[in-house]
Amino acid sequence: MFRAFLKVADKCPHCCEELYHHRADDFPAYLVIVIVGHILVPIVLTVETEIAPAIWISMTLWPSLALVMTLGLLQPVKGAVVAIQWYGGMHGFEASKKARALAAAADVG
Ligand SMILES: [Zn+2]
Repeated sequence: MFRAFLKVADKCPHCCEELYHHRADDFPAYLVIVIVGHILVPIVLTVETEIAPAIWISMTLWPSLALVMTLGLLQPVKGAVVAIQWYGGMHGFEASKKARALAAAADVG
């Protein structure tokens, strides 16, 4: 669903579902900050108090780990935010949600 690292494609290349309606904005970045912080801070505190590595190790390890975790999580979290908006029929996805509901009703009835 991405045409670049964080650019959502205008529509799905498989089913042509329109995706340009999404309004993820900065929310994925906020979520990634919360997730990475909650994972990394306890690890940093534990390692720094229990092991107390050399300062150069701390100054290279923690920023590198934060960068890798942030870059690794940004795209999946943005995909999840867009998926939640799509599933909930938020913003421009209302028509898509109604079409899915009609198709499901036609399958049942
Ligand atoms: Zn699709």
